[in-house]
Amino acid sequence: MFWPVPESYCRRLPRPGEPGSFWEDRGDRHHAGVDIYAPGTASVVSIEDATVVAVHEFTSPDLNPYWNVTYSILTRNEQGLYLRYAELGSVCVEAGQKVRAGEVIGTVGSVLALDRIDSTAPLYIQRLKDRGNAAMLHFEMYDRQPRPLPPTLYLGGNYFQQEMPPGLLNPAKYLARAIDNFNDN
Ligand SMILES: [Zn+2]
Repeated sequence: MFWPVPESYCRRLPRPGEPGSFWEDRGDRHHAGVDIYAPGTASVVSIEDATVVAVHEFTSPDLNPYWNVTYSILTRNEQGLYLRYAELGSVCVEAGQKVRAGEVIGTVGSVLALDRIDSTAPLYIQRLKDRGNAAMLHFEMYDRQPRPLPPTLYLGGNYFQQEMPPGLLNPAKYLARAIDNFNDN
């Protein structure tokens, strides 16, 4: 197993309740995954051998005027785990392709278009800007293929509901194995 962002600032996930943690309560929405912060040019690699199921646009200014265009990659490993690598600035794989553990599949991206965020932007957007963590990998994990959902239910890595959708998993333990692997090698 490979840690998905070799150049990330640290190999630690946000603790429960911290910004970017799994199922973080964001008021009207919950965070569907975990965020791993890294420099804006950092490569994202496949954690395990897997098949690319789909590549999608993940955010865009059409969905939210304060967003950049970013992409997501959905992969399936041999055990049937579905991993979503999202908020990517670029993607270098396509649907149907097999990828090896450690193979570069894209680069981290920045969802927030910082130059478009001014004092007229919604407060939560301004707060995100002030936090200064612009580039990251947003990572989700499922035990079955996630269904496509309308933006009123799922948008930008958040679910607009209180209860977790079927199949969504907390990726903390899974990613901890990738960290342990790294430390052993
Ligand atoms: Zn996120």
